[in-house]
Amino acid sequence: MQDTLAIIKPDAVARDLAGEILAAVQAAGLRIVGLKMLRLSKAQAQGFYAVHAERPFFDSLTDYMASGPVVCVALRGEDAVARYRALMGATNPEQAEPGTLRHKYGQSLEANAVHGSDGPDTAAVELAFFFNKLEIV
Ligand code: ATP
Ligand code: MG
Repeated sequence: MQDTLAIIKPDAVARDLAGEILAAVQAAGLRIVGLKMLRLSKAQAQGFYAVHAERPFFDSLTDYMASGPVVCVALRGEDAVARYRALMGATNPEQAEPGTLRHKYGQSLEANAVHGSDGPDTAAVELAFFFNKLEIV
């Protein structure tokens, strides 16, 4: 079993797509083992995406991530990291395969509806950013 972190990003939450996206995740066989809605401050968004601090899109990305509530989800399943990445599709919604979350719900390269950890080590760090042990069941 493996855990991963999913985030329903501000653009998708603002369009009331959280329920639909959670249903799609569950239909794909990934179990929700932690769930919370919150709003990141700019500093918290910068902390979460610190790995991208030197990228030209960092300031815009962190403004966007702090622009409204997000839904943070701990997911569990066999090979959960890779399976959820596959369900999300490519970073750019225009390149995402039909049937993927970003193809369906993404609006732009930045406002691409969902986040998913990119490996088991990253997942552990990102889950700990949002959830304490009691909050993952
Ligand atoms: P995420 O980490 O959000 O799951 P990802 O791993 O597919 O996405 P990353 O390269 O980690 O992609 O980029 C993080 C996020 O930064 C992307 O999801 C997107 O919102 C934004 N982003 C990535 N590249 C660009 C870009 N060239 N211009 C604007 N925003 C970008
Ligand atoms: Mg990433």
